[in-house]
Amino acid sequence: MPRKYENVKEYHDPWYALTANRLLVTLGGLQGEVNCDVCVVGAGFTGLSAALELSQKGYSVILLEKDTVSGLASGRNGGHIQRGFSQSPGWLIQHYGLETARFLSNVSLEGLALLLHRIAEHDIKCDLKFGHLSAAMKPKQEAELKTDISDWQRLGHKDIEWWDEKTVQDTVLTNSYTGGLYDAKGGHFHPLNYALGVAQAFQRLGGKIYERTAATEIIPGNDVQRVLTASGGSVNAKFVVLAGVTGMKGLAPLRKASITATAHVIATEPLSDARRQQIMTRDLAVIDARFIMDYYRFSSDNRLLFGGNCNYSDREYAGEDMRLRERMTTLFPILKMTRIDHCWRGPLDLTMNRMPHLGRLSPHIYFAHGFGGQGVILTNILGKIMAEAVAGTAERFDVFAKMRHNTFPGGDLLRRPLFVAAMTWFRLRDML
Ligand SMILES: Cc1cc2nc3c(=O)[nH]c(=O)nc-3n(C[C@H](O)[C@H](O)[C@H](O)COP(=O)(O)OP(=O)(O)OC[C@H]3O[C@@H](n4cnc5c(N)ncnc54)[C@H](O)[C@@H]3O)c2cc1C
Repeated sequence: MPRKYENVKEYHDPWYALTANRLLVTLGGLQGEVNCDVCVVGAGFTGLSAALELSQKGYSVILLEKDTVSGLASGRNGGHIQRGFSQSPGWLIQHYGLETARFLSNVSLEGLALLLHRIAEHDIKCDLKFGHLSAAMKPKQEAELKTDISDWQRLGHKDIEWWDEKTVQDTVLTNSYTGGLYDAKGGHFHPLNYALGVAQAFQRLGGKIYERTAATEIIPGNDVQRVLTASGGSVNAKFVVLAGVTGMKGLAPLRKASITATAHVIATEPLSDARRQQIMTRDLAVIDARFIMDYYRFSSDNRLLFGGNCNYSDREYAGEDMRLRERMTTLFPILKMTRIDHCWRGPLDLTMNRMPHLGRLSPHIYFAHGFGGQGVILTNILGKIMAEAVAGTAERFDVFAKMRHNTFPGGDLLRRPLFVAAMTWFRLRDML
């Protein structure tokens, strides 16, 4: 029963792409020369957020996307809306001090509010649901999550709660969890439909989007930066914002600060209401507290969207869907006969310290990348903070730009094998 194979392409398409409200009409591959105030490269959440904010501030903005709007991580993710950074609040306090950690936690909560505000303001139909649970599988994880709650409180946020084993198991019907951190403000949504909604809002303000237009190089200048594209066109702009960009000439030093892993998500066939109630009694997003975690939620058409099981090597492995299915049925044996309708992958852009990497390549060229597996909220708010910096208010941007980021060790040859070895160690540690 396991997989649906009638149409292999559709099987590997993200369920999101197949259910997208794609009302967006964009421009095709850019040819000729165009001018604007700001050229944003990359139409993931970060680029869209920066582009929308800059348009709202009155800048003329051109957005270049090498593929389709949010066709990569932003339109393929688990759709979990989870506060915070990939690092725990305790880690933020330890590494940056209480004051900066408080600033960072406020940025995250502002990001959540921004997301909700945009959905409401632009009437974005993206299946928004509230309630997010981080579940512990053993006493060590319980202790870590309880510490997270008290650290969030130290940072001024008293709005997350501890759920004991009974409350968790009454809600998520597996005996794998022993307790959990519940955030009523977190939740889940259809990430691609959110992105398409933001793109339309940007266009309504006069913003121009060129899809199938890869930027290949920037020729920097004092007043004009010239962005060249693979389609033969170019953009002349006062400022450039690089948002999750790869494959451009001159970006190698920046790119050394991150490495890409591949994450996978499966979507089951639609479940009956009765079956759904045997898995979760509420419509929550659930993630477990391991380093390499499972995360899941229901879609609007009653599928279980289940992600996890990262591939850290740059080789492709077959059967990721079966590995995820095994994880899913370990938690919920009742799904053993349930068919998998889709399995897709997406890139995770990871930095050494798991914090996003922001900065400037010149006074007029800004960049942001490295959001890893926790980008839904952060990309949105940091896109806004980049727009603030372009507009001349860089205090908040500079807190991030000043963060130290080490390059991955091992040089071109060994960085990948060393990274795989480190991740294998974390995988083993999860098992202890
Ligand atoms: C499978 C998966 C599950 C995840 N689940 C979650 C989750 O549940 N919750 C959460 O918070 N986070 C999650 N994440 C992480 C989150 O999706 C990312 O952190 C976030 O989307 C990154 O956004 P971005 O804008 O930086 O990058 P992207 O979305 O990758 O956008 C970058 C864009 O730039 C374009 N581009 C690149 N180079 C060029 C170029 N040279 N010229 C023009 N365009 C270019 C790309 O085509 C792409 O569209 C997940 C990620 C994956 C892959």
